[in-house]
Amino acid sequence: HARRDKNVATLVERSLVLVKPDGVKRALTGAIIDRIERKGMRVIAMDLRSLPRELVEEHYAEHQGKPFFEPLVSFMLSGPVVAMVIEGHRCIEAFRTLSGATDPVKAAPGTIRGDLATDVGTTVVQNLVHGSDSPASAEREIKLFFPDLA
Ligand code: UDP
Repeated sequence: HARRDKNVATLVERSLVLVKPDGVKRALTGAIIDRIERKGMRVIAMDLRSLPRELVEEHYAEHQGKPFFEPLVSFMLSGPVVAMVIEGHRCIEAFRTLSGATDPVKAAPGTIRGDLATDVGTTVVQNLVHGSDSPASAEREIKLFFPDLA
C-alpha cells in the first residue's frame, strides 16, 4: 500500500490576489481568474475597485523608502484593480508559482507574468498581479482589503 506522505496533507489557505491596473486595462482579468480556477483554487471574494492612496501605502509598507515606492504607489492608483481572496491547498505558494518572477522578462513561460506581462513601465515593474508571499502577509492583506470577511 502506498502511504501518503505527511508533506502532502491538505493545507487549505487563503491568499490576497490583485489584478493590478495594467491587467485590468488590458482586459486580462478573465484570463487570470481562469488560470486560478483551472489550477484548482477558488475565488471566495472579489470586486473591482479604485484604491485609496492610504490603502496602497499600507499594503506596500515594506517597500517604503525604496526608490520604486512612489512610482509603485502611483501605478497602483492609475486605474482600478480587481481585488480577490482565493482559497485552496497551499494557495499562497501555489499562486506565487503561477504568477512567476517579479520581473516579467525572467518569469518562466507558463506563468501569468511569463506568458502575459510585457513590462512597458519605466520606473515601476508592471507585472499584472500581486499575491501574498506568506501566511502572515496573507492574513494582514486580507484584513486590509476585505475587513468584513470572516
Ligand atoms: N517593483 C518594482 N521594482 C523593483 C521591485 C518591485 O517596480 O525593483 C514593484 C513590482 O510591481 C512588484 C512590486 O513592486 O510586483 C512589489 O514588489 P515585491 O518585491 O513584493 O514583488 P512581488 O511580490 O510582487 O513579486
